[in-house]
Formats: sequence, structure tokens, C-alpha cells
Amino acid sequence: MSDWRIPLSDLFYDSREEEAALRVIRSGWLSMGPEVAALEEEFAAFVGTRHAFAVSSCTAALHLALLAGGVEPGDEVIQPAVNFVAAANMTVAVGARPVFADVAGLTEPTIDPDAVASAVTARTRAVVAMHYGGHLCRMAELVALCRGRGLLLVEDAPHAIGARFDDPRGRPPDGRAAGAMGDVACFSFFSNKNLATGEGGMVVTDRDDIADRIRLLRSHGMTTLTWDRHRGHAAGYDVAVPGYNYRFDETRAAIARVQLAKLPAGNALRLGRVAAYREHLSAVDGIAIPFAERDEQSAHHLMVVVFEDQGRRDRVREALTEARVQTSLHYPCAADFTAFGGSAGAGLPTSREFAARALTLPLYPGLPLDEVRFVCDRIVRSLDSAKR
Ligand SMILES: *Cc1c(COP(=O)(O)O)cnc(C)c1O
Repeated sequence: MSDWRIPLSDLFYDSREEEAALRVIRSGWLSMGPEVAALEEEFAAFVGTRHAFAVSSCTAALHLALLAGGVEPGDEVIQPAVNFVAAANMTVAVGARPVFADVAGLTEPTIDPDAVASAVTARTRAVVAMHYGGHLCRMAELVALCRGRGLLLVEDAPHAIGARFDDPRGRPPDGRAAGAMGDVACFSFFSNKNLATGEGGMVVTDRDDIADRIRLLRSHGMTTLTWDRHRGHAAGYDVAVPGYNYRFDETRAAIARVQLAKLPAGNALRLGRVAAYREHLSAVDGIAIPFAERDEQSAHHLMVVVFEDQGRRDRVREALTEARVQTSLHYPCAADFTAFGGSAGAGLPTSREFAARALTLPLYPGLPLDEVRFVCDRIVRSLDSAKR
């Protein structure tokens, strides 16, 4: 596929995914049907919500979450400046305005509840919490803030599938999984995520009113599905609201069910790789590793390290590329993109520092532990040679 010695991510696939895809192809039914229904039931049980809707991507899930959650043109949606661009794009798609809030710290690059509180205006309708790298936001504070002010809380949770909120003091939402703490939550099955089907996603909620709207909006606003009519459960349909086609399909749903069953094992393997990285890097001068004390809660989607400055980060990145180790940057500060005004300069100091100094290293369940050592040795060597 590539000439990387160590890619950034890799699939956690075996013959079970192949068999699942074949089963569907031989069944003669490819669009939304029994596999999608079974996946939704299993996913809702896994996260612990009443409802789960499989959709064509997490971006579609975010669009539906904002629409069904009542975000309207002219509203403001507060969201982290360190995030993938989908949440901001979908905010604009519903006619609202993204308001970027700073992250809590260089070793806690999730949205800062205090920054959210100071960004609230009369137009604020929703807050987006993105669980960076698989590590949960400060959900107790965000839940309290949003309840107190009547704001919709959307979990942008693609990194955090399988992560759990454990508060040693037992405060709510203690014991809840990522996706079961806000009003509505979105997941992605994109190729590089912990649960991968190529494209796809899931939107989950405990709220019946939001679920009813998502059910309609996902499939053209139609009141029955092709599968219902095929089985003779419905003869016709009405279009209750103008909607979209954000449906998922049977082949990927069958693959997703295998991937969901394997997810706890995959996340445990990821934790083992992260522990090895920490062992090799924790004593190295000039490297900080985010979320040090919260490992047990994380889904470990990303292995991110933060350097003393952008120059060192960029030199290490070059040295790793030379050693054919793939790295990435998660993420450029969203407020600096042309589409959102390119508002460089004042504000969001921590987000901009983080974007300049963070580097994402390879992480996937099958990553050999001696390759983790190889990556760490290269990093240390690069930092040492810069000192001399
Ligand atoms: C991957 C990802 C998305 C987009 O997911 P798609 O399924 O590709 O639409 C959105 N937000 C975050 C945080 C992501 O990691």
C-alpha cells in the first residue's frame, strides 16, 4: 500500500470482516435492513443510550445532531478550536456560526469549560465537546453548564468509542460511556478510526424528541423505509419534513458489527502501545505527553506528544519521515482556516500553541512493540543532535 516502514494507523481486520461482507452480498439485500437494525441495537447497548442511528458518515451525524437538536440560522455553536473541521462545517451548514473556545491546556487539549462559560451569549444554542484522541472532556462541568443555561450538548466522539467517564469522587456522569453524557453524540467509522468500515458513522441519543427527528431526516423525511415496504409492513409513505439521504448500508453494517465486537480487544492493544510509548518517552527532556493520569478512561485513538517549540516538533517530524515513520498533525487551529475568517492573532493562545507543538505518532492495535521503541529512539536521537 505504501512504503512507510510504520504507518500512522492500520486496520484491525481478519477473516471475520470478509465473511460478514460475503454474507450480505449473498443475501441479496444491500441497503438498510436487518444488519443495520442489528448494528444499531448493539451499538446503543454498547454506549448505553436508548437510540442509535447508523448514517453515512460522522459529518452526516453531526449535521443531523445539530438539526434535530434545534440549532437554527443565526444561532451560535461553541466548539473547541482544536478539532477536525467537520463540526464547524456542519454548524455553517445549518446556518449557525461556529464560536471557537480555547482548549484547557497543552496536556489537556479538550475544550475548556471556563472558556465555554465566557463565550456564552444570548444567541448560543449548543456546545460541541470533542473527546480529543479518545480522552474525555471535563464532562461533569460541561453537562452542568449546558443544563444550567438550557444549551444543547453535542459529543463529537469519533476518537472516543469505548471510552468511559470515571470520576473518583463519583460525581455524575460517573460510569457513563463517551456518547451517553450529552444530549446527542456522533461517531465515525472512517478507515483510520478505532471502528473502521471505510466510511460511515452513528448518531446516538437518549432523547426521544431528537431521535424522532433524526429518524425522519436521515431518509428524505419519509415516514417508512424501503425495507418496511419490501416486507409488506407498509404500503406507502408521507414526507413529513424535507430530509436527506444519510443512510448506511448492509455490507458495512455487517463489517461494523464484527468491528464493534472486537473493539474492547483493539482498544486494550492500543493501551499497551501507549504504555510502551510512555515508558520510552516520559523521562525525555522537552517532551510532554497529554492526559497522563487518565489512561483507563481513554479509547486511545491517537498517540500525541507535545514538544517545547514548533522548531523541535518540525525537526523530529522530518527525522521520522526520513526513517519512513508516518506522523500527522491533529489539528491546525480551526479558527485560522480561510473558511472561518482566518482570524489569526488574538485569542485561543493554548489552541495555537498546541497546534504548533503537537505531533501524532503511529498507533494501532497491531503496532509491534519493538517498532514503538524504534520510533522513540529516532525522536530522542533527533532531539539530541539538535542540542549539539
Ligand atoms: C473523523 C472525524 C470526523 C469526521 O468523520 P467522517 O466520518 O469522516 O465524516 C469528525 N470529527 C472528528 C473529531 C473526527 O475525528
